[in-house]
Amino acid sequence: MMNYPLTLAQILEHAHHIHGSKRVTTLLPDQTFHSYTYTALYERVKRLADAITQLGVIQSGDRVGTYASNTYQHLELYYAIPCMGAVLHPLNVRLTPVQLARIVHEAEDKIIFVGDAFAEPFEELRERIECKQIVHFNPISVPPSVAYEQLLSEAEPVYSWNIPDESWAMGLCYTSGTQGEPRGVLYTHRSMFLHTLAVNQADVFGLTEADVVMPLVPMFHAMAWGLPYAAMFAGADIVLPSAKPVCLADLIAETGVTVAAGVPTIWAKAYPELSKRKRDLSTLRRLIVGGEAMPPTLIEAYEKNLGVEVCHAWGMTEMSPTGTFSKLRGVHQNLSDAEKWRIKAKQGQPIPGVELRLAAETSNGFTKLPWNGEVVGELQVRSPWTASCYYNIQPTTEYFTADGWLRTGDVATIDVDGYVQIVDRAKALIRSGGESISSVALETSLLKHPSVREAAVIGVPDEKWGERPLAVVVLTQWTDESISDDFRQHLSVEFPKFWIPDRFVVVDEIPKTSVGKFDKQALRKQLLTPETKEKLS
Ligand code: AMP
Repeated sequence: MMNYPLTLAQILEHAHHIHGSKRVTTLLPDQTFHSYTYTALYERVKRLADAITQLGVIQSGDRVGTYASNTYQHLELYYAIPCMGAVLHPLNVRLTPVQLARIVHEAEDKIIFVGDAFAEPFEELRERIECKQIVHFNPISVPPSVAYEQLLSEAEPVYSWNIPDESWAMGLCYTSGTQGEPRGVLYTHRSMFLHTLAVNQADVFGLTEADVVMPLVPMFHAMAWGLPYAAMFAGADIVLPSAKPVCLADLIAETGVTVAAGVPTIWAKAYPELSKRKRDLSTLRRLIVGGEAMPPTLIEAYEKNLGVEVCHAWGMTEMSPTGTFSKLRGVHQNLSDAEKWRIKAKQGQPIPGVELRLAAETSNGFTKLPWNGEVVGELQVRSPWTASCYYNIQPTTEYFTADGWLRTGDVATIDVDGYVQIVDRAKALIRSGGESISSVALETSLLKHPSVREAAVIGVPDEKWGERPLAVVVLTQWTDESISDDFRQHLSVEFPKFWIPDRFVVVDEIPKTSVGKFDKQALRKQLLTPETKEKLS
C-alpha cells in the first residue's frame, strides 16, 4: 500500500473540491450573520498562509497563538497554521493574564491573532508577554499590530501546503487548569486526522453532508472537540456563534442547526428558552454533550419534551479529546424509557480506536479490574490520538503508566457491554471514615428533586470522619426552610446513611470554570472561609 501521509491539508482539500458550496455562517456581535462558502474559505486560507509567511517571523514548527471566539477567521486559522507546518495554539480567553502569560511564555508563541471582542482584555496580557507579532481581527489596529483583513488583501492565494510528515505537530492545547496548573498537549497531523475519522463514524458523532453543525464549545477548549475538522471532512454546513447569541432558539431556527455541541451547563441554561417552542426547532436532531456529566433529568427533558437526541461524549484535552460516546444499541430499543435514559446517562462505550482499562494500583504496578458495572477503578486509556506526555514535561507516573497508558484521573465503572460511568474525579472522591462517597452520584440524585436547579457536592474536613460531604444547591424556586430535611429524605432512598450530606447550603449561583464546568476549587474557597465555616457548623 502507499505510504500516504495523514494530514489536515487532506481534509481542507477534500472539503474544497467535494463540498465547495457548503457554508460557514458566523453570528457576529451585532447579531447579524457573516456567511460564505467552503470555496471562499479555502481561498482565504491560502491567502492567510501566504500572508503569515510574508510576516517573516515564523519557521516550520513554530507556535502561533489565537485569542478569539468561534468565528470564521478562527476557523481559517485552524487550517492555515497547521497546513503551513506551524502549530495552532488556541489560548483560553477565560484564564487570567498571569496564567496565560505563563502559557504563552512556555509555548513561545511567535504570532498571536486577537479576535474582535478581545482587543481590550488582550492588552493586559500583552504587557506580560514577548511576542514578535500581534494581528487583530479588528480593522482598526494600532501599529506595531497589524489588521487581519489588511494582511489578507496584500497576500496571494498561492501557498502550497508544507507539512514535512504526518507526525509533525499541528496543534497545542492547554488543559483548562481545574486540576492544578494548565498543561500543554501537542497533537500531530496523524493523531488529529485519525481522531477526525473516528468521530465521523456513524455510531459516534455521525455527521453527514446534510448536517448543519454548531460547536458551542469554545475553539480554545480541547480543539473545539475536533468539530472544525470533523464537520468539514463530512461536508456539513457550520454555524459559529462568535458572540453569545441573544436567543439560542432564534439562532437554531434561522440557521437550521441539526447537531450542536457544548457542556451541560449551556444546555441546562438554554432549556427553559428552547422549551417555550416559540421557534421551529425541528431541524435539531442531536446534542453532543461533554466536559461534565449531563444530569439524567436534563437528558430526559430534551429527549422527551423537545424530541432531540442527547449523546454524552467523554474525553479529555489529552485525548484530542474524544474517548467514549453514548448511544443506544439495537438491543436497547425495546427497553422502557427509564431504562434507556439510565444507559444514556452513562458516558458511553469507547469509540473504535480507543482502548480502556479499569485499574487498581498495587505495590508493583496496576491490576485490571472486571467490567461488571459495579467495581470502581481508575480509568486508563490509550489510542492513536491520546497524548504520551505533556508539552515540555518529562512523563511521570502520576499521569502515565510505565506500560504506556494515560491515567485519566477519573474513577469509573464499566459494564459488561463496555459502557463507562464516571463516578468522580479521583481527587474529588470524598473519603469519609475510610469509605468513598461519590459527589457525582449525590449531585445526580439531587438534580432529580423538583426544587433543585444546580447541585455540587464537595468534601469538607471533619475531625471525626476525615471528610464529610457538603451539598451546595441552586433552587428552582424559593421553598421553605425545612428543605434540608426534604433533601435528606430524598437522598436516603438511594444512598446509605453515611453518604447523606450533613449540610445543604443554598446559593444563587455555583461558580463555573473557564470552560463552563462547576468550579469546585472556587466553591471550596468561597464556602470554607473562617466566617462561613463558623456559620455552617
Ligand atoms: P478537559 O480536558 O477540560 O475537557 O477535562 C477532562 C475531564 O472532564 C475528564 O477527565 C472528566 O473528568 C471530565 N469529563 C469530560 N467529559 C465528561 C462527561 N461526559 N461526563 C463526565 N465527566 C466528563
